[in-house]
Amino acid sequence: MDLERHDFQLDDLVSRIRSNDHRLVALQVPEGLKMQALEMMDKIEDDSGAKVVLAADPCYGACDLVHDKMMAMGVELVAHMGHSQMNIDSGMPTQFIPVTYEGEPDIEPVLEILGKHRGLSMDKLNSSPTSEFTEEEAQEKFLDAVGRISSLTDNKLGLVGSIQHLHLLEKYKEMLQNAGFDVTIPTGGDRLTFPGQVLGCNYSGDDSTIGHYLFLGSGDFHPIGLVLHTGKPLALLDPYTGEASEMSFTRIERILRQRFGLIMAIGEANTFGILIGEKPGQMRRNLAIRMKRILEKHGKKGYLLALDHVSPDLIDFYPVDAFVNTACPRIAIDDSVRYEKPLVTPYELEVALGEKEWESGYQFDEIP
Ligand code: SF4
Repeated sequence: MDLERHDFQLDDLVSRIRSNDHRLVALQVPEGLKMQALEMMDKIEDDSGAKVVLAADPCYGACDLVHDKMMAMGVELVAHMGHSQMNIDSGMPTQFIPVTYEGEPDIEPVLEILGKHRGLSMDKLNSSPTSEFTEEEAQEKFLDAVGRISSLTDNKLGLVGSIQHLHLLEKYKEMLQNAGFDVTIPTGGDRLTFPGQVLGCNYSGDDSTIGHYLFLGSGDFHPIGLVLHTGKPLALLDPYTGEASEMSFTRIERILRQRFGLIMAIGEANTFGILIGEKPGQMRRNLAIRMKRILEKHGKKGYLLALDHVSPDLIDFYPVDAFVNTACPRIAIDDSVRYEKPLVTPYELEVALGEKEWESGYQFDEIP
């Protein structure tokens, strides 16, 4: 990552520390910025006069705010870097520090992909929602990316991005409109702070007027979730490299095959560990208890296991047949191969038990 071109906006933090005369502040930074953490601690200490303690445990999102342990340590303020505030209260005063990247990739390389995807969404728009397609036709139309044939009411291009590139969206909307696309920057629910923002667990800005997407960002974490959630064609433009690409049907199909294999694998399972995330923005206690009740209804046993971090060495040894994850949804989707036993989402468990149907389309495990 080109850190020289990132802007870490520390001024508001320093003023807040100084005006409240805070003495001890915790700094929480995402994994990709940890190398810069000591430099940031120096700067905050020099400019504010407060002492800074780094919350050095892994941090992957604003769902993961440090709270009670830091309070017990006497920390008065948490400075959380690189993520935006979501609809949770950690119980600790928290300052969110935006990080923006200055790179502005040329849109030219992505226009051809967007044109192709617009054609696919036009086809879908013009088809009756009740149309039956052969498998081949569905693949061609990208309608069957997640097994759903949901109707569109328009074929707008949804422009989204990861947080460090969101400041570019309005400008890119204009450029793409000038290139002939009808563009919208979707606004999601309470978990998302900004228009066009997506999280690995929330794509709530999607609606039936959006026929295809452009994601401004790098990596495939958000893109995979976006297609699993929406089933719509997705083009990618990476501000770090300027490269354009698309999320392929084959890639999504491979993930869906793996999910289906896990659903089959837990068909005969009788005992389950039900994982509850202890992080403030991942805790879905009611969902976990509902999973336990559903298992009981089917004559199976579910044990509620609460963890801060979920990893193979912390759960593999329990004598259960499989695990259901209600913590960060991406643990089951992205990491399941690391676990010795099947690790499924709540929806997948319900499909395995016959409570829900796979045929109505794969349902992404979203945290609202
Ligand atoms: S729950 Fe998972 S995907 Fe959602 S913000 Fe947290 S780490 Fe990211």
